[in-house]
Amino acid sequence: MLSLGQLRPPYQWFRIHLFSVTSLEALATVAHHWLTYAFVVFLGMLWGSFGNVCIYRWPPTDEFPKGRSVVTPPSHCFVCKANVKWYDNFPLLSYLWLRGKCRNCKTEFSPRYLIVEALGGVLFGLAWWAAMNHPEFTTFNERLIGFVVYAGFSFFILIVTFIDLDHMLILDLITYPSVVIFYGLSLVLGHVWWHGLVGAAFGYGIIVAIRTLYYAMRKQEGMGLGDAKLLAVIGALWGWQGVMVALFGGSIIGSVIGIAAIIGGKLRGGAPNDQEATADAGDAEAADSDEPVPDGMNFAIGSVALPFGPFLAAAAMAYTLLHPYFSIQLRH
Ligand SMILES: [Zn+2]
Repeated sequence: MLSLGQLRPPYQWFRIHLFSVTSLEALATVAHHWLTYAFVVFLGMLWGSFGNVCIYRWPPTDEFPKGRSVVTPPSHCFVCKANVKWYDNFPLLSYLWLRGKCRNCKTEFSPRYLIVEALGGVLFGLAWWAAMNHPEFTTFNERLIGFVVYAGFSFFILIVTFIDLDHMLILDLITYPSVVIFYGLSLVLGHVWWHGLVGAAFGYGIIVAIRTLYYAMRKQEGMGLGDAKLLAVIGALWGWQGVMVALFGGSIIGSVIGIAAIIGGKLRGGAPNDQEATADAGDAEAADSDEPVPDGMNFAIGSVALPFGPFLAAAAMAYTLLHPYFSIQLRH
C-alpha cells in the first residue's frame, strides 16, 4: 500500500542547499504568464535542435560503428558539406525561411528536423505546466527543480523514441548514463532512496521475464534488451508505478496504433519488415546477415513490425506530466 503521495522527502537538506545561493522566488509571479511559456517553448526547441544532432549521429552506421560525436564537426549539409551558418540554425524559423532547403546547394531537408524541434518545444511547455501546477510542490524552487527534471526526461524520451523509430535500437550509450542520472534526480525530487532502485530493477526484470517466456514458447531470440534498459531508466525516476504505467499504457497505445496502421495500410515495406523477415528465416541466416538484431521488443501484427520503445516512451511521458493525478496502489 504505497502511493507516490506517501513518499516523504528525506533529502530536503539537499534541496535547500541547491537553491540557497540564489532565491528565484521573485520569478514565481510570472510563472503563468504566456511570455514565460513562450520562452520555455523556445528553450525546448533549442534542445530539440540539439536532439536532432543526437538522433542523427549517435546510432552506429557502417562508416562509424560506434556512432559519432555530437560536438564535432559542426552542423553541415549532408550533400554539399557546407557548414550551417549560425543565423540559419535558429529553431523552427530557419527551417521556414529557408523553406527546408540548404542555403548553399538547395537540397531539401526532411521535415523530421522540424517535427523534432517542435516536439521539443511542446514537451518543454508541458513540463513547465506540469511543474508549475504540481499539487505537492509548495515553493517555487521546488517547481523549478521539478521542471528541470521533467524537461530532462522529455529530452531523453525524444531522442530514444526517434532513434528507435529509425533504427529499432535503444542505445546503451544513452540508457546506461540515464539510469544513474534519473536515479539521482529522483532523490532531488525527494523520493526515498530505494524507490528508484526498485523501479529500475523491476523495469529491467519484467522485460527479461517476458523475453525468457517468449523464448521458451517460440524457441526464438526475437528481442534485444533495449526495452528492458529503457524501462530501467523509467523505473529509476518513477519507481515501479512508472514502470507499470509505461508497460500497460505502452501496450494499449501500441495496439491501437498497430491496428490503425494495418487498417490504414500506411506502413510500407522497409527496414523493419526486412529485419522481421530475417528473424523468421531462422537463426543460421540471421547470424550470417549484417543486419543488427532489433534491440527491442517488436509488435508484429501480420506483416507489420513496430518498435515497442516509442510506445513505452509515450506512456512514460504521459505519466511524467500527469502523475499527481494517477493513484496506483497495491492492495492485499
Ligand atoms: Zn547543401
